[in-house]
Amino acid sequence: MTSQRTRDRLIGRLKEQGIQNTDVLDVIRNTPRHIFLDEALAHRAYEDSALPIGFQQTLSQPYIVARMTELLLQNGPREKVLEVGSGSGYQTAILAQLCGTIYSVERILPLMEKARGRMRQLGFRNVHLRHADGGMGWPQRGPFDAILSAAAPEVVPQDLLDQLAVGGRLVIPIGPQGQRQYLHVFDRTEKGIEETKVEPVLFVPLVSGVIA
Ligand code: SAH
Repeated sequence: MTSQRTRDRLIGRLKEQGIQNTDVLDVIRNTPRHIFLDEALAHRAYEDSALPIGFQQTLSQPYIVARMTELLLQNGPREKVLEVGSGSGYQTAILAQLCGTIYSVERILPLMEKARGRMRQLGFRNVHLRHADGGMGWPQRGPFDAILSAAAPEVVPQDLLDQLAVGGRLVIPIGPQGQRQYLHVFDRTEKGIEETKVEPVLFVPLVSGVIA
């Protein structure tokens, strides 16, 4: 189930779907996705599908993790990155291997605690996890070179735009739950914010408030 051949097959699929960044592909190939799942689901870890992690949340599909990471890195390396919605910590682990320091916020405490354990298990020392409502960003740690949201708001949160450094990029799904959502990219330039609509996606909603 975790064999090299199974992982290589996943990388082949991601390439077929248009993922080109070889650093991103290498990191996905070498990151054990099965440790981010409960044992009963671990045998499905290298399928290109989203999988349940409890609390009505999902571990994102590898394609979407690859696509969002590729967009985040498109204009060069990113030193300080904010992630909204740590979930299982899988996307966090991918970012931790490609960026300087990761600040990741999760509103559901048991998910954040599990993700923190996995970061320790994998030996990442450049990840800071926090139990909080990430819709407001993490103002004390900003501004960020990049922000990635794993949950979809109906409109882009102004707080996240405000916490982008000049040259920084926000990658975020936007749209109502269960209806058409699109992945968007927002770049902060000297002149202001530039918005690009990328492709249709399906994400869990960005919800305000926290769960202990
Ligand atoms: N990349 C994660 C995706 C998890 S799903 C993974 O692959 O495991 C999205 C996560 O966003 C969920 O865990 C959900 O609890 C969290 N979330 C939703 N709204 C949030 C908010 N306002 N602040 C922080 N986390 C939020």
